[in-house]
Amino acid sequence: MTGCNASAIGRCSADSISIFEGAVRGTEFHEAFHRIFELVIDDTLRNTIYKQIAKRLGVDLNNDPKYKNAREVAEWVADKFMDYSNNYYTDKDRNIFGIKLPKLISKAFNRISNFINAMRLVGNFRLANLYVKARNGYWSKHSHIDKITKDKIDRFNKLYKNLYYEVNGTKL
Ligand SMILES: [Zn+2]
Repeated sequence: MTGCNASAIGRCSADSISIFEGAVRGTEFHEAFHRIFELVIDDTLRNTIYKQIAKRLGVDLNNDPKYKNAREVAEWVADKFMDYSNNYYTDKDRNIFGIKLPKLISKAFNRISNFINAMRLVGNFRLANLYVKARNGYWSKHSHIDKITKDKIDRFNKLYKNLYYEVNGTKL
């Protein structure tokens, strides 16, 4: 964490998500997506999707000593999910920057949407309730949903520490 960043409107860490006052519509989806995608979705699915996106963005995740590319890819997909959640893209037209959202990614988006919608029914966007359920394996009966393990938390902290969503569109 780089300290208090005045322009950050959302933040995702391994422990929590924060949505700040004045956040644009959908910021909660962006942050919730990070949290679920990085910590709950199973590693194989996430890695496959990240590889696809990295290829499309033309960035190298294997030669990425400071995890700058990993961060870029993570922010890209969280932004797309936010757009998807805001119905910015319809089912018919999922062209993003001239490329079609791959099937695998749409599937993951749907799954994560369901997860977030279930959380909304509980009335809590901080994921606390579902987080507890996930820890208890509630979601493990669903494919591609894992328990939140220490390995996942360690990976998150190693790669990102925090993921920010910023007003000016610059992601740290
Ligand atoms: Zn982000």
